[in-house]
Amino acid sequence: MRVMISGGAGFIGSHLVDLCLLQGCEVVVVDNLSTGRLENIDTYIWNRKITFVNVDLSDKLMVEKKLVRELEGRIDVIFHLAALADIVPSIERPYDYHRSNVEATINLLEVARHYRVSKFVYAASSSCYGLPEVTPTTETARIDPQYPYALTKYLGEEYVLHFGKVYKLPVISLRFFNVFGPRSRTSGQYGAVFGIFLKQKLEGKAFTVVGDGKQTRDFTFVTDVANVCLQAAKSQVVQEVFNIGSGGSYSINYLTSLLGGEVTYIPKRPGEPDCTFADISKVTRVLGWHPQVKFEEGVKEVLREIESWRKAPLWDEHSIQEATKSWFSCLS
Ligand code: NAD
Repeated sequence: MRVMISGGAGFIGSHLVDLCLLQGCEVVVVDNLSTGRLENIDTYIWNRKITFVNVDLSDKLMVEKKLVRELEGRIDVIFHLAALADIVPSIERPYDYHRSNVEATINLLEVARHYRVSKFVYAASSSCYGLPEVTPTTETARIDPQYPYALTKYLGEEYVLHFGKVYKLPVISLRFFNVFGPRSRTSGQYGAVFGIFLKQKLEGKAFTVVGDGKQTRDFTFVTDVANVCLQAAKSQVVQEVFNIGSGGSYSINYLTSLLGGEVTYIPKRPGEPDCTFADISKVTRVLGWHPQVKFEEGVKEVLREIESWRKAPLWDEHSIQEATKSWFSCLS
């Protein structure tokens, strides 16, 4: 199988690159390195194990000129993981998010049509459910994006399904819940909880827990997510949406107890759910996928790699308050 992985230099994408190579696939990575890191895949580039194309997928001309013209041969499967994926910058720069998450998706769908791929797998987001009324949440729950990132990921999914319907492109959309594991993004943005806590632990600072810390998240280990992407690509199933979660939901207080350290509480934010918890009965039934890594094992694995968060920004309650101003002013 010759596979294209957009966003392959990023967190989840680079784990998918590992898995595809392990399974004997030929891999093409497409990434503009806006938030991804070359170090996630550079040994593969130097060993010529993968083809790397640095292109901004939202630039239609460049996609046609650089990506399609430079790539020889066929592409069997496209995994579309490239996206801008932080909340605060999406509130401040909605147009950039529209370009990278919606326009880039259409451009890549056109590439998929060109190559007549056997599967297009889209990395969607559980953020489309907003503040879910029911947990565990099924795929039929109300869609209610709370901020531009969530909206653009959902619009991308709608395009993917629309291309499936109109052009009979074999598509699958996977709605990831909170993915964690080694190599998670350490860009300057205030974002995912793991990167923030790990850097705080490295520096001996208190964990900045939002609200009372009783809110729970469906933390899903990254290798499980890579596995389900590949399983979706190999399956005969098309035109379906699946929730991808761990089968559990864990409080932030439990996470800090596993990481070990002091805690300080900061104000709860608008637009954030008290609980994210995927109902994964559809994906287990239809694709036969089950998450393998227990939350506690995943946390241990991350702690073993803690040094890699040394370069991450260090947040405290004051810098978080400054960085989340637009969050509070727009969403409350
Ligand atoms: P990431 O930022 O580590 O990876 C995204 C990659 O896309 C980066 O390497 C970035 O450089 C690249 N990229 C961004 N815009 C691009 C563009 N215009 N052209 C080419 N490349 C571009 O993020 P991640 O956590 O690995 O997320 C991967 C995917 O999974 C994203 O689509 C994200 O929305 C989705 N997702 C992630 C989570 C999570 O918890 N991490 C949850 C739900 C959905």
